[in-house]
This record gives sequence, C-alpha cells and structure tokens, in this order.
Amino acid sequence: MIEATVNQTNNEVKNQFKIFQDRIDATACRLEVREACILMLKECKREYTVHFPVKMDDDSVRIFTGYRVQHNDTRGPFKGGIRFHQDVNLDEVRTLAGLMTLKAAVVNIPYGGAKGAVICDPKTLSDNELERMTRRYASEISGLIGPERDIPAPDVGTNPRVMVWIMDTYSMNKGYAVLGVVTGKPVDVGGSLGRFEATGRGCMICTLLAAKHLGINIEGATVAVQGFGNVGGNVARILAEKGCKIIAVSDVMGGVYHAKGLEIDKLLKHTQESGSVINFRGSESITNRELLSMKCDILIPAALENTIRADNAADVRARMIVEGANAPTTSEADAILNEKGVFIIPDILANSGGVIVSYFEWVQGLQSFFWSEQQVNHQLELVMTNAFSDVMKLSQNKKVNMREAAYMVAVKRLDSALRFRGIYP
Ligand code: NAD
Repeated sequence: MIEATVNQTNNEVKNQFKIFQDRIDATACRLEVREACILMLKECKREYTVHFPVKMDDDSVRIFTGYRVQHNDTRGPFKGGIRFHQDVNLDEVRTLAGLMTLKAAVVNIPYGGAKGAVICDPKTLSDNELERMTRRYASEISGLIGPERDIPAPDVGTNPRVMVWIMDTYSMNKGYAVLGVVTGKPVDVGGSLGRFEATGRGCMICTLLAAKHLGINIEGATVAVQGFGNVGGNVARILAEKGCKIIAVSDVMGGVYHAKGLEIDKLLKHTQESGSVINFRGSESITNRELLSMKCDILIPAALENTIRADNAADVRARMIVEGANAPTTSEADAILNEKGVFIIPDILANSGGVIVSYFEWVQGLQSFFWSEQQVNHQLELVMTNAFSDVMKLSQNKKVNMREAAYMVAVKRLDSALRFRGIYP
C-alpha cells in the first residue's frame, strides 16, 4: 500500500507558485532592490505546454502532456531538471523553475532557472515506451533547449539513461553530437565523474558545516532520511561514511528504523533488489509520519515537496533540517519550525550540489576536457562552502534565518546582474 503523505491537496499547498511569489515579496522587504527585479522574479519568462502522441507496445497511441518552463535567464542560460511523475502539474513546474533561478544565484554559478516535466508514471512504461516518450518530448522541446540556451538535467523519475536519450535526439536533429545540451549523462557519453552522487554530497557538506556551527558532534549524530532515491540514498551513504548513525529511512512505500543505525550499503542493495526499503532485515517498520517526528539530530527530507506541513511540523524533534528535496517545507510549517528553533538549511542551498556538478559537467563538455573525481569533489566543496558562508554571514548580520538569508543573497545577485544588463530595449 502506498502511503499518502506527500502532495496532499489541502489549502496550505494548493498554489505552490504563490508561496514562491510570497517568499520573493518578503525578501524584497528586507533588501533595497529594484522593483523591476522583483516583478520579473515573480513571473516565469516562458511557459511551454505540449500534448504529444506516443506509440505504445500494444500498437495503441497515448497522448502525454509535457512542460518546459523557463523562469529567468538574467545571470546565464536556463538550467533545470526534468521530472517524470504522475502528479506533476504546471504550477509545480513553475515553482521548481523559480527555485532553480535562486539556487544558481545563491551558489554563484552563471545560470538562470528552468524546469521540465512529463505527466507519467515511468514505472508503468516498458523500456521501449519510455525511450519513445522521452525522445518525442525531447523533439517537442528541442527548439527551446541547447547548450547556450537551456540545459536540462535529471530530477524525480529521470536518470542518466533518460538524459542520454535527450542528448542523442537533439544531436540527431542537429546532425552532430552536442554534449552540452543536457547534464547528468552517463560518464561514457560526456557525463562528469561525481555527478551521480553530487546532490547527496552537497547535502553532506552543508550538514557538516551546520553541525559545526550548532556544536553537534557528527561522529554518532543521529539522522533520519525521507526518500531513498538519488538524493536520499546518496546522502545517507555519505553521512554514514562520515560516522553518522542513520537511524531511519523511508520511501513511498513506508520506512525502516534501527536505534543503533541501519547498515546503509546493505539497505541500498536491498532497495535495488526489492524496489523499496521496507522489509529490510533486522529493522523495525515505521511510517513516513513517524520518521518525520523521530527524535534525531538531523532530519533530511529528500522525497517530494510539501512533506513538512502545518499538521506535522510541531511534531518534528530534530535539531536541524537539511532540505534535500525541493520545497519540502510549507510556509506555515516554516513558521512553526522557526518558532521551535529548528535550524533549517533551505533547499536552494542544501540540494545545490547537483546543479553545481552539472555546471562542471557542462564546462567539461564545452571544453572537451574532463576532470578527475577528486577535482570535481574538491571544486564542489569550494563552491558549497563559499555559498554556505555567504548565507550564514548574512543570516547573522541581518538576524534572519537561513532561508531568508539564502533568498536575500540570491535576489541581491540577480538584481545586480539586472542593473548591468538593463531592461531591453
Ligand atoms: P528519486 O526519484 O531518485 O527518489 C525519490 C525518493 O522519494 C524515492 O525513494 C521515492 O520512493 C521517495 N518518495 C516518493 N514519494 C514519496 C512519498 N509520498 N513519501 C515518501 N517518500 C516518497 O528522486 P531524487 O532525484 O532523489 O529527488 C528527490 C528530491 O530532491 C526532489 O524534490 C528533487 O526535486 C530534489 N532534487 C534532486 C536533485 C538530483 O540531482 N536528483 C537535485 C536537487 C534536488
């Protein structure tokens, strides 16, 4: 049975993009920035919706709906993932595109923000259907994307294989191989070493910096992780390597708990073989709700948006939340957690490791010069440490929380870029 813990349609989460716009407005009140910048950030520059046919294995034809939303390109080409999920909608894609603009700005890489999606459950498609659907979607958005224009990457429901189909489709239409059109590709076709685990590694870097600030000893620190996919699986593994005790992990099917710490390598293998973390040998079963309210030092929501809401935020007993997922905390929940004194590393900072190494992959592809994994990880640590320090300093100077500070850093950089570029004509 699937637990319905995420994406509940209630008033609190009905209009996600409105929450994003409200956060931009709140940031504007704390900064001296031009109104033009705020007006631009509150809208998406370009929104594309496409309904396209795909031939299924049984010879029937199914119509799929896809999106590509380009939020803002003031600081560089659009950049953002592609999500394949049955519940995705335009409002969610707009929000995720907006967050990408802020994420690139807060870590100071030269990108704007975009996001794409196809409404589908990839698990219900055969490999051939998934390939045909991906290639047709790639063709439909090919006029919008390109290495100097808009560079997609993986997100929920997509992976390196999907990325290479997009790259191949784009390249076939151009007539030559274009490595820089997507990131998150397999290493054998222009991918970067370190990209697969980059978001989890970035979460780890932020967690260690925050733990030092809060005086939490990372050796033996207790961690609960919601979502055990690319982000959750990697951050759990890397934090365990650093000495943390991963006491609870969950996915869409439910969760598992072990007071002494789960053996993450074995849990990853179990998940690969069985498709879920549930029924992991030697663990106790828990629900996603129980995981979120677990007494631990560090809680990492790494599933989907709106998992921490007004109805469960008061139950959170973690000292620190590291937002591996995009937009896991609603505004109401944010207020409750701040009141309780929970230290939150916001999504646009905590999960930026993925876009940072995507940037490295794009640079490597454009130069046809590839780095060692050590170089990639070292550069990632430099960029993330600088971003964390920028946000922390502003948070302390202006006496605002980390989310407010991260938004301020990002909006200030966007405003500065817009001042130089001006409003055309
Ligand atoms: P994924 O598809 O690899 O994994 C998602 C995980 O969440 C799975 O374990 C799934 O079972 C679980 N999940 C889904 N619905 C759930 C539910 N209702 N309750 C509990 N668990 C649930 O996706 P991912 O790439 O790891 O992305 C996870 C989050 O991180 C998303 O918000 C995504 O936008 C964000 N993110 C991903 C990247 C990246 O590089 N992949 C980068 C930045 C942010």
